[in-house]
Amino acid sequence: MEVCTPHTPKMDAEQTTSVCEPTSSQNDLENRKHISKYIKCIPENEKNNTKLNIKLNRSRMKTILLNGNMSTCVRVSNKKYFVINTCSFDSIAAMISMAYLDHNQYKKYIDSVSNDFLTFCKNIAKKGTTRQTYVSRLLLLKTIFSTDKGITEVKLIDAKCNVLHIITQLLKNTPSATERRICSNTKCMNAKDTMKFSPTIILKFSYDFENLERSLVDYTAPMFSECSVCHGILTSRRTLNKHLFIETDFFNNEEFALTDFPQTCKINNSR
Ligand SMILES: [Zn+2]
Repeated sequence: MEVCTPHTPKMDAEQTTSVCEPTSSQNDLENRKHISKYIKCIPENEKNNTKLNIKLNRSRMKTILLNGNMSTCVRVSNKKYFVINTCSFDSIAAMISMAYLDHNQYKKYIDSVSNDFLTFCKNIAKKGTTRQTYVSRLLLLKTIFSTDKGITEVKLIDAKCNVLHIITQLLKNTPSATERRICSNTKCMNAKDTMKFSPTIILKFSYDFENLERSLVDYTAPMFSECSVCHGILTSRRTLNKHLFIETDFFNNEEFALTDFPQTCKINNSR
């Protein structure tokens, strides 16, 4: 049964409330239609699809951050920029974005801090790469690299560096470790707690990669030295943060695989 709505204002009262019975030809047409339960939008499925898309972000093409050498120029405030050699920046950004999706504690940490680079990585993890991603990358790199005005209207930013430069410049307020120093002599100028932030930590790996935890315990052990001001005892304590960027040196052309690294590591009583 179907109620017909009036098509013209001239229709009388009887017509506007009339009920149309479907004709036999209409019935035939309805019967011929193939009705599939998959065509209809089921709210529950829509909900699941959204969840799945988020989960699959890591393997979707749009999450890949294209190197500046492979992408077109970026326009900001009516100025055109070419950003080249973004390999170091991109590799750290990809690593942090993956960690954001993989580790719930790290996700909470990034959500809780205010750092433009970490926010950039979070946005890639949550939304994938968009046109705005390349604008944001340009704005971040502009803060740590000079802009070459060149002879054309297109400005050039060469972001060639190693990964440590990106970490030390863009993660200053979210360091890998914090060191506190205090002198035992209450009258000394060093008696006041002083803090030093280290975007990266330097490990000697005296043991091997499997004993990373042991190396980190050594790194955070209290250190005692002579105060250079009053010759009292200076105590130094290091605490580790939620992410660790480790610098180390190896000689004799030794090569290591990623599988040499432990998959988990217990730090500050959390793994
Ligand atoms: Zn002192």
